[in-house]
Amino acid sequence: MEIMRNLFRNFLNLFFPDLCVVCKERLSEGELHICTDCLFLLPKTNFHLQPDNRLEQFFAGRIPFQHIAAYAYFVKGGSIQSVIHELKYQRNPKIGNFIGELCGENIKDSDFIASIDYLVPVPLHPKREKQRGYNQSLEICKGISKVTGIAIDNETLIRKVNNKSQTKNSRFDRWKNVEDIFQLTDTETFKNKHILLVDDVITTGSTLESCAKELLKCDGCRISIYAVGTAG
Ligand SMILES: [Zn+2]
Repeated sequence: MEIMRNLFRNFLNLFFPDLCVVCKERLSEGELHICTDCLFLLPKTNFHLQPDNRLEQFFAGRIPFQHIAAYAYFVKGGSIQSVIHELKYQRNPKIGNFIGELCGENIKDSDFIASIDYLVPVPLHPKREKQRGYNQSLEICKGISKVTGIAIDNETLIRKVNNKSQTKNSRFDRWKNVEDIFQLTDTETFKNKHILLVDDVITTGSTLESCAKELLKCDGCRISIYAVGTAG
């Protein structure tokens, strides 16, 4: 059976070769999603090793938090943009697991992740999730969880409002747009827990801010934030 499967895969690969999502070159045997060259060139931030990094400065005064980091810089036309585009718009949840595992490898032995009790993906509205077929942040969490062994909680924080696309709004409109759109299904689960809130990309931070405010309604809950990409 295995031989047949391999033959079939090789046959398919002749006509539909697996391409690197970043450079679109053909992947070599053993490479998955991103080729070795592009992996090596990913613009990592290493913010998880830098207290008071740019992201922590960006969120300072907006919400109380423990630590904030992102895996790599998101620049227009850059590699992380290709990865996120593939994850959000090409129905490819596996690239989320893959990049999540890279993130997990990057942070697993650091203080950044040491005291985390739960990974919590930024929730999508059920309607949006149905359209996309999955929640991209949950797919990233699965990869991080696989490497670090930290449990995912995908049920306690939910999204009650399906806000419209935010790309054309001003920063103030966006902030108004995400106010009170998240809800806790119970306030016990996260009591005295340290949550790592996980998103795909940090841009204005308003969605994460709104999530964090809701999570902080649980007594003694502490928040850290992590994303695959950061705009700055
Ligand atoms: Zn490549």
